[in-house]
Amino acid sequence: MSEHSFATRAIHAGQEPDPRTGAIIPPIYQASTHVQDGIGGFREGYEYNRAGNPTRSSLETQLAALEGGASALSFASGLAAEDALLRGILKPGDHVVLGNDVYGGTYRLLTRVLAPWGIETTTVELGDLDEVRAAIRPETKIVWLETPSNPLLKIVDIAVVAEVAHAAGAVVVVDNTFASPALQQPLALGADLVVHSTTKYLGGHSDVLGGAVVFGDDTHFDAIKFQQFAVGAVSAPLDAWLTTRGIKTLAVRVRQHSENAQAIAEWAESRPEFERVFYPGLASHPGHDIAARQMSGFGGMLSLALAAGPDAAKAFAESTEIFQLAESLGGVESLIGYPPDMTHASVRGTALAVPENVVRLSVGIEDVRDLIADLEQGLARIGS
Ligand SMILES: *Cc1c(COP(=O)(O)O)cnc(C)c1O
Repeated sequence: MSEHSFATRAIHAGQEPDPRTGAIIPPIYQASTHVQDGIGGFREGYEYNRAGNPTRSSLETQLAALEGGASALSFASGLAAEDALLRGILKPGDHVVLGNDVYGGTYRLLTRVLAPWGIETTTVELGDLDEVRAAIRPETKIVWLETPSNPLLKIVDIAVVAEVAHAAGAVVVVDNTFASPALQQPLALGADLVVHSTTKYLGGHSDVLGGAVVFGDDTHFDAIKFQQFAVGAVSAPLDAWLTTRGIKTLAVRVRQHSENAQAIAEWAESRPEFERVFYPGLASHPGHDIAARQMSGFGGMLSLALAAGPDAAKAFAESTEIFQLAESLGGVESLIGYPPDMTHASVRGTALAVPENVVRLSVGIEDVRDLIADLEQGLARIGS
């Protein structure tokens, strides 16, 4: 599969027709255990479903192919994947360097779940390499980055940060949820591991929760696979199957998400109600050149700062009709959110806090004329 291009791999990797019946879609193996041919006589290695399930395996094959990885593991959620990764690599006394606007749940996991077990975390501005170098210590095992970031769409040069981290012997992890592998392939840029919330663009239809770790090589596979097996936050067969189905249309969906978001960003830049538009596809975005180099499109996420302040931002988030007020992102339907009270409530008052006048859009693949008309009526309604 690796010789084929992205859209082809997304549809065919791990998706061989059922050899017994020819069913073009492999069945959902909705079973908790597998019969053994004599004690220890496992068919194709399957025994008990916490250890392995054929539907999960086909998703894992597909995920590895999407990122150009050696292998992948799929989990019940993005945070379950992150937790297995962190516990598989770290031990008490180790240290993590974390971008200062990564997903709030990642920060919460490190500082509230893992900190009591002896893991230390320092947040840094990843665009400032001196700050990154200064934060790295002998105990630093992981440098964790997210680009574009959430919700301010900051862009980090993956190759440059990877070089600094590798010089210090740290493992480089990229949360590639926002870009999706359709737009950005961190392993090829020097990352060691990629994590995903497959809940977002990979699943793509707001109907399933999931997460993944994708491995550039075998170094950490056994340790993280052991966490998956020993703790058990695996994806259920139906969830794995729904994610696989979503992934098959990823390339076309992401193209449309990006096209719609670009049009909305350009429209928003022309409106005085917004004092700032955060979208890497705009030439005015400080990370535009890096994004143009390391991504093959700019994605469907954008944030808007309301000139009239926090109350106007909250009112605007409640005034749209097609853009529905909800957490999450990456589905075919457009969503709007007010990060300070919603996705980023857990990081208020920390280094990761978000400006209070910002709304975040997850631009869906509806007709963009309807989307812009919806935002226009929202502005008219709040009279801002
Ligand atoms: C949603 C999200 C996560 C967490 O994933 P869940 O599936 O909700 O556990 C991690 N990183 C990013 C960037 C996310 O958007």
